[in-house]
Amino acid sequence: MWSYQHQRFTVHQLAALADNYIYLIDTGAALACVDPAEAAPVISACAELARPLTHILNTHHHWDHTGGNLELKTRFGCTIVGAAHDAARIPGIDKKISEGDDLQLDKQHVSVLDIPGHTSGHIAFVLAGEKNNALFCGDTLFGAGCGRLFEGTPEQMWQSLEKLIRLDTENKTDTDFYCAHEYTLSNLEFCLKKVSKHTPVNEYYAWSLTRRNKQLPTIPGTLKREIQCNPMLLPAQADFCKTYAAEHTIADDAVSVFTHIREARNHW
Ligand code: ZN
Ligand code: FE
Repeated sequence: MWSYQHQRFTVHQLAALADNYIYLIDTGAALACVDPAEAAPVISACAELARPLTHILNTHHHWDHTGGNLELKTRFGCTIVGAAHDAARIPGIDKKISEGDDLQLDKQHVSVLDIPGHTSGHIAFVLAGEKNNALFCGDTLFGAGCGRLFEGTPEQMWQSLEKLIRLDTENKTDTDFYCAHEYTLSNLEFCLKKVSKHTPVNEYYAWSLTRRNKQLPTIPGTLKREIQCNPMLLPAQADFCKTYAAEHTIADDAVSVFTHIREARNHW
């Protein structure tokens, strides 16, 4: 278990399954679990913290994000919060929410964003911290990558990614992102081979390699670094789009460039 202080709350990170991360948001009175892939690591963590689980927050319906829902609800009687749009596919859901809805964990306010693309009902949770905000983005944004488009169009996913970029560009406070899988290193290998070799990407790769060799997570990362390095976010930069589009003889708008990079990643 790794822990990160945001002053008003603490985030605990648990490794699960092959490459999943489960998070516990600890506000003092509330202890909320984001995307319990399985129940066992959450039960152990609650025992270690000597605290009951009060909430489950699901970003989307996939089994590797909701697998622990029912067992944890039976054990702790916790409240399960998930996307209204996907309520029928979220086991044990109690509270159905969408963007703009108010969600409180004890005294901590949680904002909800609709970010469809990976699945049609994917949502994100944002908590304002004192130094850094925390974004829980499930399988939408990864370290140096983004989720596959199982139920959405490239346009939808691009709009969702732009929404996450704006969390950084329109806020004074930096945002740390907590995604649900450890894919950073292979995403950066793809980026270096197929998309961009610029210095920040090389630095990100070297740092990630050192972390992984020590069996440490590369997550959480910062939105700032993703905006600079993530091949799925680079299409937000017009200069990058021009160069990339010319190299691949495609249209140079952000959606066309994003679609091309996402396709290349699928077949890599
Ligand atoms: Zn998923
Ligand atoms: Fe997943």
